[in-house]
Amino acid sequence: MLEQAQRVLKDIFGYDSFRGRQGAIIECVAKGGDALVLMPTGGGKSLCFQVPALLRPGLAVVVSPLIALMDDQVATLDELGVAAASLNSTLSAEQQRELAGRIRRGEVKMLYLAPERLVQPRMLDFLRTLDIALFAIDEAHCVSQWGHDFRPEYLQLGQLAELFPNVPRIALTATADMRTREEIVTRLHLQNAERFLSSFDRPNIFYRIVPKEQPRKQLLAFLGERRGNAGIVYCLSRKKVDDVAAYLCEQGFPALPYHAGLPAETRASNQRRFLNEEGLIMVATIAFGMGIDKPNVRFVAHLDLPKSLEAYYQETGRAGRDGLPADAWMAYGLQDMVMLKQMLQNSEGDERHKRIEQHKLDAMLALCEETRCRRQTLLNYFDEELPQPCGHCDNCIDGVQTWDATEPARQALSAVYRTGQRYGVGHLVDVLLGRDNEKIRNFGHEKLAVYGVGKDRSEHDWRSLFRQLVARGLADIDLEGYGGLRLSDSCRPLLRGEVSLELRKDLKPQTSSKGGASSGGSPASQLVRGDEREQWEALRALRRKLAEEHGVPPYVIFPDSTLLEMLRSQPTSLSEMGRVSGVGARKLERYGEAFLEVLGGGVEAPKIVTDLRHELVSLARAGMTPMQIAGQLNCSEKNVYSLLAEAIGRQELSLDQALDLPEELLGEIQDAFLDGEGELPPVSAIAEQFGARVPEGVLYCVRAALAAEFEM
Ligand code: ADP
Ligand code: ZN
Repeated sequence: MLEQAQRVLKDIFGYDSFRGRQGAIIECVAKGGDALVLMPTGGGKSLCFQVPALLRPGLAVVVSPLIALMDDQVATLDELGVAAASLNSTLSAEQQRELAGRIRRGEVKMLYLAPERLVQPRMLDFLRTLDIALFAIDEAHCVSQWGHDFRPEYLQLGQLAELFPNVPRIALTATADMRTREEIVTRLHLQNAERFLSSFDRPNIFYRIVPKEQPRKQLLAFLGERRGNAGIVYCLSRKKVDDVAAYLCEQGFPALPYHAGLPAETRASNQRRFLNEEGLIMVATIAFGMGIDKPNVRFVAHLDLPKSLEAYYQETGRAGRDGLPADAWMAYGLQDMVMLKQMLQNSEGDERHKRIEQHKLDAMLALCEETRCRRQTLLNYFDEELPQPCGHCDNCIDGVQTWDATEPARQALSAVYRTGQRYGVGHLVDVLLGRDNEKIRNFGHEKLAVYGVGKDRSEHDWRSLFRQLVARGLADIDLEGYGGLRLSDSCRPLLRGEVSLELRKDLKPQTSSKGGASSGGSPASQLVRGDEREQWEALRALRRKLAEEHGVPPYVIFPDSTLLEMLRSQPTSLSEMGRVSGVGARKLERYGEAFLEVLGGGVEAPKIVTDLRHELVSLARAGMTPMQIAGQLNCSEKNVYSLLAEAIGRQELSLDQALDLPEELLGEIQDAFLDGEGELPPVSAIAEQFGARVPEGVLYCVRAALAAEFEM
């Protein structure tokens, strides 16, 4: 059996060996057994049911909660030459009848559908007339009422056990915790299923958490080292999402916003672009994520603190599904704690619930201030032991310096106490530093014993100290008042001198992209070396062209990992190409030649130009001005205008997207072009009329738009 499975893996999917427990899982299900599969994102869950589906006779039925996920998988299977289809609400009645016919004739191997579809009595009756290879229940944690992705329809999937006693069932999830696991077993009647539990470690992700100082600049420094890569920037509020997305565009990064407050079409279109185009940055609230299967997200950056380690793990987990190096980066500060604590306090729910949430937040804060390996801490929280420090996180790489903060912490707490437990960090620091200002004098704080005792430390150090005191629960934030600090019970032993306190030394923040340690050193996510770049871009350009022709996202043609292997192994014949991981028989036949040609160097030059054009269109759509685009692409503004005009002519870009012209001026220019009879006059004929007032490039763009509109 395993041998057959191996052959399917190589012939259809183009892979050489199974990963982790895939082989055992596939064997179990192919033999007719039930399986519960817990595997992290990017672990390779899909193959666990796709391979047995191909090994067993009959139709494989796959339950998936989201249309986007289904479409992605169906497109991927299609490209591999596997007959797959999805049955969803976007199909017309006619299309559904046609699909049913194909299924009945045995022409479909894998059918994807939503749970509510599957459990319709008519659907179940239909399936009972067929030969069913297996049921796969993807995202099985949706059955859990405690999780955030609860889907009531999943509860009904339990009946499959009774209705199809001889059909193997496999449930899969990337959610790790014990309670969810047990709920899946009970609700889906999987008591007899074999359990396959993988490590939840994501070894290709590099974790870094930095103190928040000048968040935007810090973010820019981080992004600057990752130009051209796709990534997600998470923010807490919708407004901040809008602001940060606009700011990044201004700074020359192609960014798009995503949050629940945007019109549905904008959201859908931004999401589609993120999947289909390369190198876009999605600035988003947590509304963005579920259903994002894009494998080559190279980084996830957090500008605000997630509310739990579960959330942090899930959000950062969207990076590097393809197994290639990826970065998880976060900037965090005292204000984050205030905000989350406030949200927690104002949230609905009983005291017990709030207490649980508070514990979760505390675990998140502990990770931020952790002095040992981040990965060990993170996995430990999910009950997994990592015996050694990972060597692949900021703490492991930079090392963490700690210092004995016992005495200054006492001074700081004493400042909190002496000033009446009602002031924020800014004022407390002023008191400790002995600053002279109105607020100090008004309250007579210059007379306190703690006034000026902290002069030998910098403001930066004191702020860092206060942040860590709050994160460790030694001081509290007064949420009913104005967010001032209070002492908490747990600080008594410290004040009484019974315990000492070791704290992290914050590294100086890095806000330029040169050197320094706190934003990243060498980015994990820069996949190719300088001398490989040209060919890499040529390979990507070909992939993009094919993707457009086939109407699928680029990664469905080949994942980055496959392109990278082509680049490194430089196959020169079809048989060598067939050995590259990810090149199965069908793809070899379809695309082998074209990629060989690019590698052979025959078609590089024009592809690069295509690439530049493509990037230009992306940048313009993201709202950048011609001047900004020129800076980004390192070419003249004049050049940008003429490329923009071309793109408008090809109707890839609207005039609105290309230029931000005042309504009136636009009208004036259009009139000038349309004044005469018959053909549109050339730009030179009207340029004089506008003189220095309007760059000539603008005229070219307006003309191109008119020409496209009237097909002249
Ligand atoms: P998950 O659903 O667990 O997040 P996927 O099934 O999407 O993961 O797989 C992640 C990536 O790894 C995909 O690009 C997939 O093709 C690839 N992959 C899976 N199994 C293997 C394997 N045995 N060898 C090489 N690549 C694999
Ligand atoms: Zn580590």
